[in-house]
Amino acid sequence: MSTIAAISTGQAAGGIGIVRISGENALTVADRIFKSVSGVKLDKMKGYTAAYGKAYFENEEIDEAVALVFRAPKSYTGEDVVEISCHGGLLVTKQLLRAALSSGAVAAQPGEFTKRAFLNGKMDLTSAESVMNIISAKSEQAKAAALNTLDGALYKNISEISNSLKKRAAQMAAWVDYPDDEIEDLSDENLLFSLKSNGEKLKRLISRFDVGQAVIEGVETVIIGRPNVGKSALMNMLTGYEKSIVTSVAGTTRDIVEETVVLGGTVLRLADTAGLHETQDTVEKIGVDRTKQKTGRASLILAVFDFSESLTAEDGEIIRLCEGKNAVAVINKTDLVRKIDADAIKNSFKNVVFISAKQKKGMAELEREIEKVLGTDEFDASAATLMNERQYSCCKLAYEGICEAVRAVQAGMTRDAISVSIDSAIENLDILTGEKATQSVVNEIFSQFCVGK
Ligand code: GDP
Repeated sequence: MSTIAAISTGQAAGGIGIVRISGENALTVADRIFKSVSGVKLDKMKGYTAAYGKAYFENEEIDEAVALVFRAPKSYTGEDVVEISCHGGLLVTKQLLRAALSSGAVAAQPGEFTKRAFLNGKMDLTSAESVMNIISAKSEQAKAAALNTLDGALYKNISEISNSLKKRAAQMAAWVDYPDDEIEDLSDENLLFSLKSNGEKLKRLISRFDVGQAVIEGVETVIIGRPNVGKSALMNMLTGYEKSIVTSVAGTTRDIVEETVVLGGTVLRLADTAGLHETQDTVEKIGVDRTKQKTGRASLILAVFDFSESLTAEDGEIIRLCEGKNAVAVINKTDLVRKIDADAIKNSFKNVVFISAKQKKGMAELEREIEKVLGTDEFDASAATLMNERQYSCCKLAYEGICEAVRAVQAGMTRDAISVSIDSAIENLDILTGEKATQSVVNEIFSQFCVGK
């Protein structure tokens, strides 16, 4: 395999910049561009050691540098790796990379270091994928779940299920081949018990997926309400700064303003919307139509009502839009005298919260209600979690395989027929962990990584 190199630190000026080189010739390449002050060649150094010196490009000094040596297999990729740290200027790191590329290394593809780690058996596919989740984590909870997956929580959970199914499959194969031999009890009861308990484990993982995604990827959220109830004010309260225009003229927020907000353990991808009301203004009309579309797609609706006014027909429309959805009724302007029929709102929404966006009151209550609606208040970052759609669909297919096997046993079908369904479950679990993932799946996963990771 070729020796690869890339800048592993961010593409911005910083304290230090790191160029990572990995592969059979990593030490030779690094020796061509780095000279230690002691004169010792990196090629002669042990793993986990560092040398201080200077980096050169075509005999021109680039910068002072420190080279860290990792010896295969004890490195991130499982290959020989050298990480050269220099001062973190953009020019310096780019020159250092160019030097490595003209000394025998080739430019690393996105995620290629982690891909090599996976291919060299340093980590399974779920752990490799979690590296991306760690990098993109926006909340403590999301990071904790990703670290836990990197640590192998999901892998262990899936492997346990897969190994248990493999044991059953092997027993059944033996029974089919040698029906007269003594095989550990393979009664229908025993088989059903084992299939059902493994199925339950998968079902638990599947049922936690949406909540996990709310924590890891965030929740598409819309703020809706008739004009002037305080949607922009709520948006501003949530984001902590004035991004939307807060004004008392109806329809000023003509288009949708988007923002990501971390609220406790939940990431909200918020859209402030055009007021939902009948309008003749063409530009406003587009905004209102988009609001309706966006509301249909959103995973969470924050429906805002005005505490100081009676409910109107437009409020009624908002209430109807929220039916059967994850929605929190946010009754705003509690600093003013009450006119709203709050009971009517309480009858329509399970989760109601009173706030004053103007006085920035009610934030903690709003956070609690949002977490309750989404179930993120009960999310356990230390439990095994499916981190993405790929893992989810593998898990679902495996679960379906088990359900099919259960039905086959109950229908008194042959051991052969039952085996087919169990094998399908096993295969999907193996694809999930990467034990059997195809090259195109693996390539697809790592192409989403950044260069240098
Ligand atoms: P939107 O049209 O729903 O986005 O409403 P805005 O956020 O633009 O607010 C409309 C008006 O209500 C503005 O004059 C705000 O200052 C005012 N407003 C918003 N929230 C509150 C609140 O909690 N209390 C009071 N008294 N006024 C508010």
